[in-house]
Amino acid sequence: MADKISKEQRSLNMARIRGTDTRPERIVRSLLHRAGFRFRKNVKSLPGKPDIILPKYKMAIFVHGCFWHQHPGCHRSTVPKTNRQYWIPKLSGNVERDKKHLSTLESLGWNVQTIWECEANAASEVVLALIEKLTSCVPES
Ligand SMILES: [Zn+2]
Repeated sequence: MADKISKEQRSLNMARIRGTDTRPERIVRSLLHRAGFRFRKNVKSLPGKPDIILPKYKMAIFVHGCFWHQHPGCHRSTVPKTNRQYWIPKLSGNVERDKKHLSTLESLGWNVQTIWECEANAASEVVLALIEKLTSCVPES
């Protein structure tokens, strides 16, 4: 019985890891939605496929997993001790790609925000500060 529960929990965890609609993204979106912002999600036409864009503010938001995108200084971004010859280039490749996407988006005039999964809970000061910033800034059109 105990094994069955842990198996279910495990597949739930895996779904969470694989899914494109991750929990942190949902939290950020629902905060934005509640604050009355219009946005689009998973925008494939832009570099790096931003998780959320606010077209009116020309803002692109990435909600990054701390491990896959190597959140600097975060305990969740620890490189696994085994198989390091696989993980190190893989993870640093992700970081390099993120940097490239960010600078391409910025050169196209987008304001890019990165929200880390460890910060994206309902009480998150980062998300609330972002909403406050958007509320106080005047949209371009
Ligand atoms: Zn983190």
